[in-house]
Amino acid sequence: MKYYCKVCNSVFILKDAQFCPFCLSSKDFIDEVDKEILEHKNLLNNAVNIDLDNPGIVRDVTKCIDCGICKETCENMCGLSFGNDTSLCLSCGQCIMTCPTNALQPRNAYLKVKKLLESKVGICFTSPATRVSIGESFGYEVGSFMQSKLVSLLRKLGFKYVFDTTFGADLTVMEEATELVNHLKNGSNKPMFSSCCPAWVKYAHNEYSFLNSFISTCKSPIAMQSAIIEKYFLPKMNLVKENVICVAITPCTAKKMEIKLDGIYGCDEVITVSELISWTKLANIDFKSLPDSDYDNLFGEGSGSGVIFGASGGVCQATLRTSYYLMTNKQLDKIDFYDVKGLKNVKEASIIMGDIQVNALVVHKIKELKKVLDLLKEKTYHFIEVMNCEGGCVGGGGEPKTDSLEIKEKRALALYKHDKEAKIRFSYQNPDIIKIYQDYLQYPGSDIAKEILHLCQDNVKN
Ligand code: SF4
Ligand code: SF4
Ligand code: SF4
Repeated sequence: MKYYCKVCNSVFILKDAQFCPFCLSSKDFIDEVDKEILEHKNLLNNAVNIDLDNPGIVRDVTKCIDCGICKETCENMCGLSFGNDTSLCLSCGQCIMTCPTNALQPRNAYLKVKKLLESKVGICFTSPATRVSIGESFGYEVGSFMQSKLVSLLRKLGFKYVFDTTFGADLTVMEEATELVNHLKNGSNKPMFSSCCPAWVKYAHNEYSFLNSFISTCKSPIAMQSAIIEKYFLPKMNLVKENVICVAITPCTAKKMEIKLDGIYGCDEVITVSELISWTKLANIDFKSLPDSDYDNLFGEGSGSGVIFGASGGVCQATLRTSYYLMTNKQLDKIDFYDVKGLKNVKEASIIMGDIQVNALVVHKIKELKKVLDLLKEKTYHFIEVMNCEGGCVGGGGEPKTDSLEIKEKRALALYKHDKEAKIRFSYQNPDIIKIYQDYLQYPGSDIAKEILHLCQDNVKN
């Protein structure tokens, strides 16, 4: 028998549970999946088909008017038209952005986290793009940089430790740049694709499986951050995993899928910015009047390179900056790669490292990937950044709802401005990164780094 939670719209098999397994609402809010819901679902002809147990998004079928806009969005953004083969859905949430009735939503995790914080030590970490979108819902101008208030908000909501995933992004840069440099030194002309967007990685496995061996083995920033928290931070603080709830705050619904994959561990839940906004309103917190607060200092330091991970072109620029240093032992002078910024769907940049001209490509909006594959037939490219969402993570399906290019661009510009003004712009100069390698990881690509920060790409299939 299947049951339905009226609070978070999840469907599950109850087996005498007293709570919804997704949001922990009591059984007063749980009903048998009534015939009306199933019949309603069966009546949808135009809507994109979303599994009831999709890890990233849910549909409240009672709000769905079967307009078909979600299906069009999926085709326009992801190039997908998967009919009944729902396993091809990337959980990217782009369809949430255009649903006119709000029937589509991120799968709710904040109600569960809210309850668990009553009995567990809360640890959270915030992705780069979260700080430039949260202010929009509380009366700030689009693109306002709200890092200090975001940290303050999370403390007020009950998290004891608030970290910056920009640290995880810097760690990703260190490992990914090392992987790239090893390729270059070995004379490989094969392209290396970025791996930090789980929707893209799933898309590659589904649609272009021959690309699997070209994708970096690096875990994503949130997966690296949570692995370091579990293996390094918890023992250091005498904390036991069972007594802790570890949460990633992200712009991304696909991350809810990613944390369930084999080989990813340490992260219990993912809460999107849009969920965080709902939680803030539910808790009656006046965002504007929150005092400023800083990240906890163990992983509180991020470089400008880490921050721009949230915008299209950011991963590419950050990786080239550090790769140059690793290849030449010199610091790059011209570190802004203006050609890969902005909202053109496919962009490219080149840089001379030693005696190699390194060519890089950047693509966002996954539907455009085909153009990249065509370019690869004509020229050697060494590094390719792929992001599923338009504008990169600033356009993620867990951001405050928008399909406006202008808004995504303003969010991205705010991240790039922060990079430009940052004291530290290279990942390898981040003192927290230097410390974690000295204290624990030894060096990029070490055995321990490979064990906890990298994936065998076969693990990414789900
Ligand atoms: S866009 Fe929303 S309302 Fe329209 S079919 Fe899709 S889920 Fe239903
Ligand atoms: S989540 Fe992404 S892949 Fe899945 S239906 Fe929506 S737009 Fe398409
Ligand atoms: S581009 Fe960013 S927000 Fe969008 S699916 Fe990928 S990781 Fe998530």
